[in-house]
Amino acid sequence: SKFQEAGLKPEIVKAVQELGFEQPTAIQEQTIPFLLSSRRDLIALAQTGTGKTAAFSLPLVHQTETDSSDVQTLILCPTRELCLQIARDIESFSKYLDIHVVAVYGGADISKQIKALNKGAHIVVGTPGRMIDLINRRKLKLANVQWVVLDEADEMLNMGFKDDLDTILAETPQEKQTLLFSATMPKEIANIAEVYMDTPHEISA
Ligand code: AMP
Repeated sequence: SKFQEAGLKPEIVKAVQELGFEQPTAIQEQTIPFLLSSRRDLIALAQTGTGKTAAFSLPLVHQTETDSSDVQTLILCPTRELCLQIARDIESFSKYLDIHVVAVYGGADISKQIKALNKGAHIVVGTPGRMIDLINRRKLKLANVQWVVLDEADEMLNMGFKDDLDTILAETPQEKQTLLFSATMPKEIANIAEVYMDTPHEISA
């Protein structure tokens, strides 16, 4: 399949095949080869339903170092529902790999999320407010984060998460790859890109 030709691990190719993904979607055609070969930042203009979750998740799952127990990837999204959906999708993509994904979001028992983080998480998917709470409690450690995904960045700004995003991004290492996905590109998004990204590659689908 094209997923295999792109160079994704056989474990991932098998998992997506079982999910019934026959061909990459337009956005996946662009992001997968790019993210497998470049450490440049990325801005992607993409609506929901385009396969954007797999577009960023498959290459990140591929690159996750399972020997390490550090948080390597941080995925920020606007709502609990999206957070759970992304975490479930990543779990299905990494069915044949030993990757630990933890979802953290508000309105739910924080002690369970802390327990899950304590067991070791490679990928953390969360809403901004809860992430900050966990960072302040020293339960979410970002020192070894290599990838940050801002999913539905326009929605996060609409929901008033700008300051939270600033706080979280300031806690991440300088040396990392930042991926921003958004359905629209208002000037506030351009500002975020200006401040937090380094000559990002831009794609749209
Ligand atoms: P998303 O835009 O990430 O919300 O994905 C929309 C839907 O498309 C989800 O149900 C995915 O499981 C599905 N999907 C993603 N990539 C593919 C693909 N390459 N082939 C078929 N379905 C896909």
